[in-house]
Amino acid sequence: MPPFREHIRYKSRKEIEKLREAGRLAANALRVAARAAKPGVSLLDVDKVAERYIRAQGGTPNFKGYHGFPGTLCLSVNDRVVHGIPDRYVLQEGDVLAIDCGAKLDGFHGDTCLTVGVGRISEEAKRLLQTTQLAMFLGIEFCRPGHRLGDMASAVQRFAEERGYSVVREYIGHGIGRELHEDPQVVFADQKPGTGFRMEPGMVITIEPILNMGTQRCLVEPDGWTVRTADGQWSAQFEHTVAVTKDGPDILSRPDPEFELEDGL
Ligand code: MG
Ligand code: MG
Repeated sequence: MPPFREHIRYKSRKEIEKLREAGRLAANALRVAARAAKPGVSLLDVDKVAERYIRAQGGTPNFKGYHGFPGTLCLSVNDRVVHGIPDRYVLQEGDVLAIDCGAKLDGFHGDTCLTVGVGRISEEAKRLLQTTQLAMFLGIEFCRPGHRLGDMASAVQRFAEERGYSVVREYIGHGIGRELHEDPQVVFADQKPGTGFRMEPGMVITIEPILNMGTQRCLVEPDGWTVRTADGQWSAQFEHTVAVTKDGPDILSRPDPEFELEDGL
């Protein structure tokens, strides 16, 4: 194979502001969905509230129809890892639900994910969620000029593994802009410090590590979308869209303050 060079589209300040608007819309919709995710509510109903919110704000759900994906959200419960299709499953007290939300606004894409507990959850589940969120913020700290992909990925992997979790390999972060998925590919494991692409101002990427309580290995269900852990243990994911600036990371997928969940999520 010829050497593969990633084609990174650097963003102007103006484009970064457009991405922030799309990111904010996705982040607000994500929290509208998270508030709806109560015991007794179906995944289809959670999906509907997010879609309604995005359209009411003049945006488009950008996952819907992407390679035929049927939902506005990817909703992955418990041992589901990513790309869960919103279906008739009724949420139960104690579940953990990864909600991945994307929105397109005025030609630009937003993409953000968090994992929430449904009702009261176990201490074990809480620790998984908190550790995964911290792993994401650790990755975001590396989104500043001078760092390389391998510095970020090795730090995230070490952080997760020292706490007893594994990092999923197959599902990774990405550049984002006028396309939902742009170069570069942003992995979170199996990298050496000092290797991989260099973080440079104008890059906008997603930091979205997935941590599993057991094996990192995953299986795809017969629906062709839903991914679950190979051993049935639980999984969590957090994701922000982040601009690399000369002053450091700029998180573009923050919600408006009135949408924030408890614990500042
Ligand atoms: Mg996402
Ligand atoms: Mg993403």
